[in-house]
Amino acid sequence: MKYYIITYGCQMNKSDSERIAAVLENIGYKKAQNENEADLLVVNACSVRQSAIDRVYGLAEKLSNFKTKKRGLKTLLTGCLLRADKNKLRQRFDYVLDIKTLSLWPKLLNGQSKRLPANYLDVMPAYQSAFSAFVPISTGCNNFCSYCAVPYAKGREICRPADKIVAEIKNLVKSGYKEIWLLGQNVNSYKDGNTDFSCLLKIVNNIPGDFWIRFTSSHPKDFSDKLIEAMAGCEKVTEYLNLPVQAGDNKVLKSMNRPYTIKHYESIIAKLRKKIPNLTLSTDVIVGFPSETKKQFANTAKLFRKIKFDMAYIAEYSPRPATSASRLKDSVSSAEKKQRRQTLTDILRETALEKNREYLGKKVLVLPEQWQKGFLTGKSREYKTVKLKGPKNLVGNFTPVKIIASLSWGLTGKILK
Ligand code: SF4
Repeated sequence: MKYYIITYGCQMNKSDSERIAAVLENIGYKKAQNENEADLLVVNACSVRQSAIDRVYGLAEKLSNFKTKKRGLKTLLTGCLLRADKNKLRQRFDYVLDIKTLSLWPKLLNGQSKRLPANYLDVMPAYQSAFSAFVPISTGCNNFCSYCAVPYAKGREICRPADKIVAEIKNLVKSGYKEIWLLGQNVNSYKDGNTDFSCLLKIVNNIPGDFWIRFTSSHPKDFSDKLIEAMAGCEKVTEYLNLPVQAGDNKVLKSMNRPYTIKHYESIIAKLRKKIPNLTLSTDVIVGFPSETKKQFANTAKLFRKIKFDMAYIAEYSPRPATSASRLKDSVSSAEKKQRRQTLTDILRETALEKNREYLGKKVLVLPEQWQKGFLTGKSREYKTVKLKGPKNLVGNFTPVKIIASLSWGLTGKILK
């Protein structure tokens, strides 16, 4: 029997899929190369935007037809789902299961009783990469940003015990992993007794071995000076941060239920840049939030010019059911949202190029992730995408590189002998 998992959404979902794969393999399933080969097709859904859940509805339609051709095929839906979507999709799938009940899946799927950890995050994953691993430190979220469905779909924040996180990372490092991603919807609100996120970073940093520590995602309201000190002081924590601003206007932030001001956001960035001058900074932003005026959007554009982000994930607002923003009138037209996204993209293209030009002639360390036709592509320590000519056996190995060209969205390098 073979399984195939289709994963939508963020790294957290990818990490969940690795745990699902481990449980399925534990009860005798083998990984299929594609959906046609599968006897069990798992869809790990994402609800963060309407477009993401629309793709699941589209796939459900396709699967119904597929099932008529392939007798015996079972389908399973899990992931980040709102109750209303879950109920609508229930009739299209053989199973609709909550990831938090992962330890019960063997029994539900084929009647096997397996001793699995009750907390699904403690299930040992079937890691998809041999050198880069996602390690969830928490799941769920307590923030209730007014546009976001995650707290409704994933529930309240639950932090994993620090000793379990450290044990998982020690094993990974022992197996030669080079990049550890600490994951959570809001990593910097992590708390396990007296261990907060900055303490956790220090503990992980003290694990012997040659590896990088990255983390995502962070919330400006929980970004303390202590955390900035920890980032600057831990040599394994890389010079990269994604700090979602979501809007560059205080009134819009308030309406988004994001409890910080632009002044506060800018002060965090100033402190970070003072301590970590080569920090690569990315952000998430939503354009066209209900009643966002042209003037308010202009404040976001102004912030983009001022901060000079290296990268940004720019989303056009779409209402998500169950969220408080969905009760507001989606007043900004689709054409206007597109225009605003384009404006930010144009600014970003310039600032990213300006930042990337600073790398010309510099030496960076790159972790190549893939090889194709003689070229390696990977990320530098500063999370810059770097392309270089080189042999396949460098995939997954730290490679010193000199930067010889820079574009807005990436760098070109040459291997240093
Ligand atoms: S912090 Fe806000 S945007 Fe992020 S998952 Fe929580 S509610 Fe959603």
